[in-house]
Amino acid sequence: IQWFPGHMNKARNEIKEIMPEMDVVIEVIDARIPYSSENPMVAALRGHKPVIKILNKADLADPEQTQAWIEYLETQDQVKAIAFDDNKANDVHKIVELCKRLIPNKVGTGRQIKVLIMGIPNVGKSTLINALAGRSIAKTGDEPAVTKSQQLIKIDNDIMLYDTPGMLWPKIENPNSGYRLAATGGIKDTAFDFDDVASYTAEYLIQAYPELLKARYKIDELPATDWAFFEVAGRSRGLLKKGGIVDTYRMSEILINELRSGTLGRITLETPKMREKELLLVEELR
Ligand code: GDP
Repeated sequence: IQWFPGHMNKARNEIKEIMPEMDVVIEVIDARIPYSSENPMVAALRGHKPVIKILNKADLADPEQTQAWIEYLETQDQVKAIAFDDNKANDVHKIVELCKRLIPNKVGTGRQIKVLIMGIPNVGKSTLINALAGRSIAKTGDEPAVTKSQQLIKIDNDIMLYDTPGMLWPKIENPNSGYRLAATGGIKDTAFDFDDVASYTAEYLIQAYPELLKARYKIDELPATDWAFFEVAGRSRGLLKKGGIVDTYRMSEILINELRSGTLGRITLETPKMREKELLLVEELR
């Protein structure tokens, strides 16, 4: 799939231009999919600058997995990782302090630390910018914004935030990443076949979060396959069509909606191990 290549090229060129001046890069990722919500441009363009990975929407993610991801990400060169969510907006001071710790020689000199913030659409970048600025600056909303011009946002006397212009779409290198992005709402439903997304997600949840599924859909014995799960859960929910047939499609919609909203529980859809494995797969596909 080609993700708005025009927008993407514009973003790439603008970032290329501005990157040499930057001291730190903040990359906002989705704590539920820290690998699939990455933007490969960060790695390609940052050179040897410190990167702070913000695992955003951590309120929706599995806390144990978030911790595992933080440890894993911090084994990478010059990478720091912090979990964040908009309920704990006060925690933004941790991000600000980290920037100052990373670039101590500019603090208090009047020369501001230049921080570039980037993230794929809908990852919560605008919400985070507003929290960092302590005021409402960036437009937030469920739909990815179409136009965004470059913005400089003064955080305090020591830090200037540069919001990335243009759109940074995720680079979907393998279909699994695409399914996980779709499941969390990171890309539009229409980009993928909904049945495939729901099947993939149910299959993963059955093996990774069986207890959450059993509790939420009141199932004693969890079936091993996604289609049997939709059948059993749909029946449990009373989703019956004419003739007593279970409306499995409706059930799959409910599953995805309840995953996205957090109603199902705190769930992370990928592990560091999966990333390692899929990176090898991507290499093979090249
Ligand atoms: P942007 O496109 O990256 O600028 O994303 P926005 O800041 O507009 O946020 C996208 C959606 O995610 C909005 O509906 C926000 O309310 C929601 N959101 C942002 N941060 C969080 C968070 O930490 N937790 C949860 N649960 N939702 C969030």
